[in-house]
Amino acid sequence: MANHHQETITEIHHWNESLFSFKTTRNPGLRFKNGHFVMIGLEVDGKPLMRAYSIASPNYAEHLEFFSIKVENGPLTSRLQHVKVGDSLLVSQKSVGTLVLDDLNPGKRLFLFSTGTGLAPFMSIIQDPETYERFEKVILIHGVRTVSELAYADFIKNELPQHEYIGEMVSEQLIYYPTVTREAFKHTGRLTQAIQSGKLFDDIKQPPISPETDRGMICGSPAMLKETSEMLDALGFKVSPSAGVPGDYVFERAFVER
Ligand SMILES: Cc1cc2nc3c(=O)[nH]c(=O)nc-3n(C[C@H](O)[C@H](O)[C@H](O)COP(=O)(O)OP(=O)(O)OC[C@H]3O[C@@H](n4cnc5c(N)ncnc54)[C@H](O)[C@@H]3O)c2cc1C
Repeated sequence: MANHHQETITEIHHWNESLFSFKTTRNPGLRFKNGHFVMIGLEVDGKPLMRAYSIASPNYAEHLEFFSIKVENGPLTSRLQHVKVGDSLLVSQKSVGTLVLDDLNPGKRLFLFSTGTGLAPFMSIIQDPETYERFEKVILIHGVRTVSELAYADFIKNELPQHEYIGEMVSEQLIYYPTVTREAFKHTGRLTQAIQSGKLFDDIKQPPISPETDRGMICGSPAMLKETSEMLDALGFKVSPSAGVPGDYVFERAFVER
């Protein structure tokens, strides 16, 4: 398994019956950009069973963190959800991805649009000091079906603003907007509706989104990705055409429909 490092699971947190997070050791040789993904997996019948996973921890952390779905009968996650502290995890030596700050034109506000586990790469990006140096405001939108799927909400609202180094930037510049579609909550409905109706901007007391001032990153379900990118295109945002060529927004699939 020359292309993979063997890491050790150090912490596991089950958010609910369908979502969990875990931390692992990190090989010092693994370097990555915040927003990148790697291939992770388990050895099954003597062979590596690998899947793409966004890294949820920032690149300065000594550990790696992942935020995972539990797919019933999913080849990897039906096994991965049962890992215990001390178990091994295979992690590819190379990271890749399109959700990188370098591929965005300069702007004043950064909108991070996510649904479900699409939050994972943005957990890394909101812990990156460079995000706050490049943008005056960072607006993290997380759309989920039920309140229990609002993973990391407490960390984002209460822990991150207390962070020794980036806490002050987070307190002043990060706006977190969770929205729930299938239960009562402070904010409900699809994230695209909240933007198109102007509700989001009323709620966060910010001017409407505009390609003049704003940049975006999208990560979520294929349906959300399509809806959000069509909305941004209609507003006049230009997508980054390929890695290394900046645009007004970038996107990544949080998973692929099989
Ligand atoms: C670039 C990229 C980054 C990814 N990052 C993550 C991540 O950070 N966390 C994560 O949990 N998954 C992520 N995925 C999905 C991941 O690669 C696997 O699909 C997932 O772990 C399920 O693996 P599996 O073998 O159990 O089932 P698969 O056979 O891989 O998937 C079965 C079905 O489950 C559904 N599904 C898969 N993943 C998800 C998901 N995350 N949310 C909702 N439905 C899903 C899809 O309908 C899929 O067809 C990412 C995928 C891509 C392409």
